[in-house]
Amino acid sequence: MSAKRIIIAIDGPAGAGKSTTARRVAEHLGYVYIDTGAMYRAVSLAALRRGCPMTDDDLGVVAGECDIRLEPTDGAQRVVLNGEDVSLAIRQADVTAVVSQVSAFSSVRKALVKRQREIGEAGGVVMDGRDIGSVVFPHAEVKVFLVAGVDERVRRRLLEAQARGEQITESEVRQQIVSRDEIDSSRQESPLIKASGAVEIDTTSCTIDEQVQRILDLVEAYQKTHSIVSAHLGI
Ligand code: C5P
Repeated sequence: MSAKRIIIAIDGPAGAGKSTTARRVAEHLGYVYIDTGAMYRAVSLAALRRGCPMTDDDLGVVAGECDIRLEPTDGAQRVVLNGEDVSLAIRQADVTAVVSQVSAFSSVRKALVKRQREIGEAGGVVMDGRDIGSVVFPHAEVKVFLVAGVDERVRRRLLEAQARGEQITESEVRQQIVSRDEIDSSRQESPLIKASGAVEIDTTSCTIDEQVQRILDLVEAYQKTHSIVSAHLGI
């Protein structure tokens, strides 16, 4: 029997290692990888460019008009917004500074969650974000909550920013991360929480290979149980 193509939900705060781990898990399984943070960033970029007022109605209109495509490239993901490659623009400081504010509006979440469900509902997907296991796919077969100490998360984000050639200090990165954690965890709509049934993995002193393997082990355990149950029920 071929393995069921399942939904793998990976949530956690900034810098916990979600994107790299999720992408590698998807590559290994031949699944689609969806970085939902990139979708919220793309809407934030569109809002900034239009000088959109930060209201639920205005941001909902912008979100509704954003055609966002996530295209796999060699070892990364290209983010295309209304036909334009915005992969670099969405990682810049101006977008990072407002993305948590924009993401807290229910009209924005409604538009993006709808698209995320359309993309993922057939299975064969690894989706990372803040609310994937709790709101977008509460029935995901495998749910993971990645965490890491704040010093390590700052270190990782600083290295990423430097690799992109950004001029940013460690204390600025720390401030951004702490502020985003605070807004994402305390907002009313879909706050960052460990979803019911999620397995917590602390990546502070893990290598990427170890993180990937832990998740692949969870997938294998699910597939084994599922095939035994299916065989038993004759389905
Ligand atoms: O993953 P990344 O750090 O790029 O996400 C940027 C921001 O997008 C988060 O800080 C959060 O405010 C928002 N986000 C969200 N829900 C998701 C994914 C990201 O609110 N599922």
